[in-house]
Formats: sequence, C-alpha cells, structure tokens
Amino acid sequence: MEKQDRFDVVVIGGGHAGTEAAAAAARMGAKTALLTHAFDTIGTLSCNPAIGGLGKGHLVREVDALDGLMGRVADASGIQFRLLNRRKGPAVQGPRTQSDRKLYKRAMQDEIAAQDNLVVVEGEAADFTVGRDGAIAAVITVDGRSLACGAVVLTTGTFLGGLVHIGNTKTPAGRMGEKPSNALAQCLRAMDLPLGRLKTGTPARLDGRTIDWDRLAMQDADQKPVPFSFLTDRITVPQIACGITRTNPETHKLIGDNVHRSALYSGQIDGVGPRYCPSIEDKIVKFGDRDGHQIFLEPEGLDDNTVYPNGISSSLPAEVQAAFIATIEGLEKAVILQPGYAIEYDYVDPRGLKNTLETRAVSGLFLAGQVNGTTGYEEAAAQGLVAGLNAARLVSDSDPILFERTTSYIGVMVDDLVTKGVTEPYRMFTSRAEYRLSLRADNADQRLTPMGVAWGCVGGKRRAVFEAKQAALQEAEQRFRSVQKSPTEIAAAGPSVAQDGVRKSAYDLLAHSSVDLSDVVKLWPELASISDSVAEQIAIDASYSVYLERQKAEVAAVRRDDGLRIPEDFDYGLLSGLSNEVRSRLETVRPDTLGQAGRIEGMTPAALALVLAHVKKSQTAQTPRHAVAR
Ligand code: FAD
Repeated sequence: MEKQDRFDVVVIGGGHAGTEAAAAAARMGAKTALLTHAFDTIGTLSCNPAIGGLGKGHLVREVDALDGLMGRVADASGIQFRLLNRRKGPAVQGPRTQSDRKLYKRAMQDEIAAQDNLVVVEGEAADFTVGRDGAIAAVITVDGRSLACGAVVLTTGTFLGGLVHIGNTKTPAGRMGEKPSNALAQCLRAMDLPLGRLKTGTPARLDGRTIDWDRLAMQDADQKPVPFSFLTDRITVPQIACGITRTNPETHKLIGDNVHRSALYSGQIDGVGPRYCPSIEDKIVKFGDRDGHQIFLEPEGLDDNTVYPNGISSSLPAEVQAAFIATIEGLEKAVILQPGYAIEYDYVDPRGLKNTLETRAVSGLFLAGQVNGTTGYEEAAAQGLVAGLNAARLVSDSDPILFERTTSYIGVMVDDLVTKGVTEPYRMFTSRAEYRLSLRADNADQRLTPMGVAWGCVGGKRRAVFEAKQAALQEAEQRFRSVQKSPTEIAAAGPSVAQDGVRKSAYDLLAHSSVDLSDVVKLWPELASISDSVAEQIAIDASYSVYLERQKAEVAAVRRDDGLRIPEDFDYGLLSGLSNEVRSRLETVRPDTLGQAGRIEGMTPAALALVLAHVKKSQTAQTPRHAVAR
C-alpha cells in the first residue's frame, strides 16, 4: 500500500448512482470519497441522451426534492423538454428531456466539484478489506492504494464482468471503449453475494449531416418547457426538434434473414435483457406482424453532429446494421459513427439487500444502480440517494432512513427490488405505484422536502424556496376556500353543478372534473392575482382530493383479500384488461392466492384489482364447492 486515506464513506463509480450517493453522503456531513476511473467520465450518459419519462420523471423530481443533483443537471443541459402524457392527469404525466451529452457531463462534474465534504479519487476499485467484526473497513484499488472507511457504496453499473457483443465478436468492456471491472467482479463472487447476468443494448450512432432531414416528420420541444428541479425558474438552454422515421418490410426482411448472426439470437448471450427496451431483432422476432417500428432521431448535442436513433438497438454484425439502417427513410445515406452493441454484465440479486440498500452479507457495504438489476439513469440516481443517505447514517451511528411505498416512487422501487428481486432489468412505471394519485411528480417536494430537512440532506437554499412556496400555497388555498357562491350563481357563469342549494367554494368547484382553473377565476376575478404556478398547484390538489379518499379504500380492500384463493384452472384469458406480459406471467406462475399473485415480478396494482374482481365473480357464479373450499 502506498498511501492510507481515511473516509467515512467511499463511493465506487461516478455514474448516475455514484454521483447521487456521493453528494448525498457529503450533504449529510460524511467525509466522502468518490472513487471512479476518471473524473472526465463522471456523469456519462452511456446510452440514450435523455432524462425522465413516465415514472422515471417522478424519480428525478423525488431526487431533486431531497436536494439531489439529477434534476438541476438535466435542467442545465436539456435541449428538448416534453411533458409526456400532457393530456392525461398529472399523476401519470412524466417530465422528460433530451440532454446535450457534453452539457450534462459538465454540469454534473461542476456539481461534484462544488460539493463540500467530497473529494474525487481517480482509480479502479479491485478489492475490499473486511474487519474482524465482519464490517467493511477499506477499499483497495488495482494499484494498491487503500481507502479506509466506515461504509462503501458500490455503483459500478454495467462494468462488473462486462462483455460487449457485436455479431459474434466479444470484447471485455464496461461500456464501449472502457475496461471492465473484472478484479472487483472476482472479489464480489468470493464474498458470497448472490450474483447473476443481465444484458442491455444500444443502437448505432449516426452522423446527422448524412441524414435527409427534409423528408422526415419533426417533433418540437414544448413551447413552455417544464423544468425538473423545484429550484429552476425557467429553462434557458436552446430547444431543438428531433426527427421521426420508421422501419419497413424491407428492413424487417433484412433483419429476419440475419437474425441468427445477432449476438442475442446466436446463443452467445446468457443474460436477460430489458423487455421494455427491446432490440430491433427482438421486435422483429416477437412482433413480426407489424409493418414498421417508429424511430426517433435524437441529436446528442447543440454542437454535436452525432444522432441517437432511438428504437433500433442491435447486436447484429456491423455490416448488417449498416445494411438495415440504409433501408430506412431518410437514413439511406446515413454514415454510422459507432455500431450498436449489446453488453452483458454481473448484477447482484437485490433480495440480498436491506431496505437501506446495505447488503445483508457484509455490514457497511451498500449497492446502488444497475448493479442491483435495474436499468436507467433515474432508477440508478434514486438508489444512489438512498444508499448514500444510509451510508452516512450508518457511520454516524444514526437510525436508517427508510422510504415507504406510500410516500414515494423511491420507496416503491426499493421495496420491489428487495422483496421481489428481478428477472430482467427493472425500470420504473407509474403502474408500479399503488398510491400513484398521491405520488405525483408535481408534489414530490411537498411529500419529501420536509423529511429531507429533518434528515439533514436538504440545504439552506432549497429549504428557503420550499418554505416560501408552502406559505404561498397555504395562503392561496385559504383564499380559494374562503370565497363561495350558490349553485345558481355558478351555473349562470357556465359550469354545470348540482342545484342542491349548497354554496360551494372555489376550492370545492376545482374538485369537479368538468371545471378548470380558468372557469373558477372567471367566477372569482380576485383570485387572478395568485401566481400561475401556485394556482395550478392548488387546482391539482383540489382535483385529486376526492380520488385520494377512494384510492385509500381500494388499497385497503386489496390488502384484506391477500389470502383469497385463486382456482388452479382460473382462465386469465378471460380478463380483457390484462396486458399480455402480466397474463403470461400469471399463466406461468399460476399463483395460489391473490397475495402470491401480487408478489410476481411485474404485477401491477391495477392488474391485481382485476384478478381480485374476477376471482370473486367466478366464486359467486360457481357451485358451493368453492365456497366450502374457502
Ligand atoms: P454507470 O452509469 O454505468 O456508472 C458506473 C460508473 O462506475 C462509471 O463511472 C465507471 O467508470 C465506474 N466504475 C465501474 N467499475 C469501477 C471500479 N472498479 N472502480 C471505480 N469505478 C468504477 N438504460 C435505459 O434506461 N435504457 C436503455 O436502453 C439502456 N441501454 C443501455 C445500453 C448500454 C450499452 C449501456 C452501457 C447502458 C444502457 N442503459 C440503458 C443503462 C444506463 O446507462 C444505466 O442504467 C445507468 O447508467 C446506470 O447507472 P449506474 O450509476 O448504475 O452505472
């Protein structure tokens, strides 16, 4: 050992989990080191240049509400903000942006460099020292340095035993052009952690100057970009459009003829891939009847000609990728800057973790991000936050910080991971959250910032902004509740309400689905002086107030029915509202009880409610044999 350094917390890996973990531990006052291959790769977006989306946007807002980095960094680098599901209710809307890769990295590196209590150590972790008490004591680097510490957060992404596949070529790599972490993978195998293999993939990168944009439909950014961070007033980065094209029968034939040469289909890859981000080979094999699959052509930066063709990730040989890309409208002459590839890597079965993301096997060793079987930057960031906060708590001998399903998507994800494990890379969806009407992206700060203040991870600026917003909301709500009109006066102005003689406040009226904020302001012009953002928040809160009560009752009913027996021959084909995915899992597992059905990976609360209703219905219609069996 050349040098001895002592830290409270050492975070291994400067990706999305690692940066959040390191910053969170440091915000909690722990002396923290971020050990990563190179400062310059901190904040790299390994795959698509985009942050947020459905479910994922909620995670970013929650990380931000606890003063994490991802939301601010996305706001500083976003070049195409779009609020997904804008026409649906706020509970399922997903803020998303395409990011400029270089700006994202720079903003993240600036955040890390500016964080108190945090130093970056360049190097590769290869081993750990575990003390006689069975607790982690130090991280050892490949060049023999020892970083003594009280806790470690391991966030090595796809690097453990990473193997890149293009056709039948296999190259050991953590991601394209970067060495894998094989020494550390060996060390974890020896530690008796439950390991498995997963895979993911990425498409070829194209030279935008060789794309025929004039022939393509274009998708613009939102006129009024909605920022991620509760601290961002407005987005100042220029916004761009992206192109849209499609595969066609010729593309499909070419891929079909060569599918045996794809690393995925030649038997060369053992790991399971993400069902929700399938490769183009998968789409052709599994959904061959479609006449085309949409592709978004996403520029990777404001001053970068690289284009990310979202929707055609592939591990076919490079020449086959070139040939099928040339069959696509607008891409006939597109030059490939880097072929697509698949990557296989080791992950740790998250059922070996506590709710704090500390391993059960080694005290003080926390895991976060892709290494836990998840996929996506946002899932990684949220886990990094949980692990970083708890690593800091552990070294200060304080109680752990637990996230609950009832208060955050972070809690949903952690609970899913540690109780159900994963059978494929896990990603977040709004359907995973049974309390999603209250876990909205718009109210992440109201749900979490006060907790963050109490835990000590929220800084003075955010606290002040939050308190000012809360005061404004309270005052505004009071004003909305204090003005009233009779049903006759309301109906005379337009909105149709029950003529029951009961006077209604502006707040009551907002709870009606047919009434919006502009109707209410027409009735009470004095409310127009309330700022747009505050009034919009009041309107959302009011419109959900009725549903929230109903949701509580529904969830309680599902819980009561956990022990309900499902007949062995129950026909899931009769449940028309089930997705194919959930139906196939139910048919494979054939759960005995509703509770067991609920624990199947990928089962959603909505699907469970459907099974519950149909099992109950079938019981009522059945002979008394079933009634007795119950
Ligand atoms: P990473 O962001 O991978 O960060 C790992 C960090 O650890 C790196 O900084 C690395 O240098 C460092 N590191 C590794 N080993 C060591 C060591 N021994 N010592 C020190 N430092 C180390 N996500 C999606 O949502 N959809 C997709 O379609 C998708 N496709 C992907 C395709 C590819 C090819 C890859 C590589 C990733 C893809 N991802 C996709 C996943 C996304 O990139 C990850 O989910 C996300 O980056 C995970 O974040 P992380 O922090 O866990 O790991």
